[in-house]
Amino acid sequence: ILRLNDELVKQNDTLEAKVEERTEKLTSVVNDMLEANRRLNAEIAERQRVERILREREQEIQESLNRERELGELKTRFLSTASHEFRTPLSSILSSAEILDLHAQKVDNQQFAKHVRRIKSSVEHLTSILNDFLNLSKLEDGHVSVDPQIFCLHEFCNDIIDEMQGLLKPGQRFLHEEKNGQTEVLADKKIMKNILFNIVSNAIKYSHEGQTIECSTRTDGKKIQLRVRDHGMGIPEKDQPYLFGNFFRASNVENIPGTGLGLAIVKRYAELLGGNIHFQSKEGEGTTFTVILPAHFETSQT
Ligand code: ATP
Ligand code: MG
Repeated sequence: ILRLNDELVKQNDTLEAKVEERTEKLTSVVNDMLEANRRLNAEIAERQRVERILREREQEIQESLNRERELGELKTRFLSTASHEFRTPLSSILSSAEILDLHAQKVDNQQFAKHVRRIKSSVEHLTSILNDFLNLSKLEDGHVSVDPQIFCLHEFCNDIIDEMQGLLKPGQRFLHEEKNGQTEVLADKKIMKNILFNIVSNAIKYSHEGQTIECSTRTDGKKIQLRVRDHGMGIPEKDQPYLFGNFFRASNVENIPGTGLGLAIVKRYAELLGGNIHFQSKEGEGTTFTVILPAHFETSQT
């Protein structure tokens, strides 16, 4: 019995040694697996990071591609609009120049002056189309800065209306209503002039002879309101949602010249000054444009 017991103890020791050895091996395998798992997790995290960066880059590339495409479209639209709109003033310049050239001796002073005026106004028209395009691309690139100054709103509007008297069609006239209240404002005069000039010249262009154009300017010290109302051809309801889009022209303009850039520029300018523009219109009855701007432009708005 003692001998058997001894043997059992020995076998037990061997077994325990074996178990210990196996446990050690198992622990090392488990540790290896844990290490491999840690490495895998780190690799997965790294891949996810790279994937995220790639997705971001892809989005950036897509955005700049879209922008390129939009710019390309803008250039194409400009080329087709310009080639169409340039034709009339260019042929008018050419015909006046030819008359002056071929019949220099025969034309009297009055006719001479008429042709020179025609050339000048056609050149001015061409320049204004080019300026519109330049202004729009500057605005799209965010390259327009605001230069606020203090001035009297009513004086400013009166000056513009005086300046525009020469553009009225026969029988058309301005009614300028000045609302009471404070008149000193802090705003960018040049940009405001461009805004008012555009909407008043539209009111003239899209109204018939003999019709009145009503302009009202008002400020309560906080906001400036510019309102231009005409009784002209109006804007068809189906075209109204697209009116401020680049190159958009309503379906009822027929052969009235224009590039469809004026209002797109005006809207961007109004927003640049921290304001907005809206309109009401009924086809065949007339249109009212209202521009609301802050009366004290804050530099933080840019
Ligand atoms: P331009 O670039 O020479 O100003 P345009 O007058 O055609 O050309 P916008 O001033 O942008 O371009 O006006 C866009 C369109 O909105 C016009 O083509 C016209 O259809 C419509 N519109 C604008 N103002 C009036 C208005 N007062 N009455 C009727 N339609 C108008
Ligand atoms: Mg216009």
